[in-house]
Amino acid sequence: MYGHKLSQRLAAVAQMVPQGARVADIGSDHAYLPVNLLLNKKIDFAVAGEVAVGPMKNAASEVNKQGFQDRIIVRLADGLAAIEPIDAIDTVVIAGMGGILISKILDAGPRFETLILQPNTDEATVREWLEQHAYQIVAEDIVAEDNHTYELIKAIPGDMTLSAHDKQFGPYLSEIQSDVWRAKWEHELDRKEKVLGFLQAATPVHEDRIAETQAEIATIQEVLK
Ligand code: SAM
Repeated sequence: MYGHKLSQRLAAVAQMVPQGARVADIGSDHAYLPVNLLLNKKIDFAVAGEVAVGPMKNAASEVNKQGFQDRIIVRLADGLAAIEPIDAIDTVVIAGMGGILISKILDAGPRFETLILQPNTDEATVREWLEQHAYQIVAEDIVAEDNHTYELIKAIPGDMTLSAHDKQFGPYLSEIQSDVWRAKWEHELDRKEKVLGFLQAATPVHEDRIAETQAEIATIQEVLK
């Protein structure tokens, strides 16, 4: 993957970025995303934030290679500390990290016009964070790549109320029910049915865990109906 050709996952993230946005890509690694957005003239300013020196050097090298040093500012910083008021950032992207880490990073910062989040895990935690911090989800996407599915969530300031079902399955994703989304939950259903089989065969019998897994299975079956 290079700045000029993104993975399917990062291409889906790029798709969600508003035209002309001033973007902070937090945890940018190689800065492929902001470089791609500039190459495609979707944006003309970004901050690429990185907490680790190696990835920060990768980002700087990619930015220099493209001659974008004046338009993509690479900063070594923890989370949103990479953003300075003079940057006038309106859109924050946090992709390729766990949902709990994404929520912690967001906890520490001010509000932004647009958040584009791509948690690798704990998507429900991210949705709950958004609900609790007066953001509303305005779009979701899901892509499959390398035997993994990745969910993307776009949010703007505003109130929303999410049910437990919305948090788990995604308010938009569960409405649209794309093939990728269905395959993810069919796979999860399969996994939970295997777990239930093991639990039922085990001694001593853990009635509480069996009941919990049966309830989880019923929830997934219901949503896949
Ligand atoms: N965002 C890119 C993507 O989606 O392909 C890179 C994802 S990479 C798996 C995660 C990156 O986030 C790593 O380079 C890591 O150093 C960085 N990271 C983790 N915690 C961070 C934090 N608190 N602040 C900034 N960067 C962080």
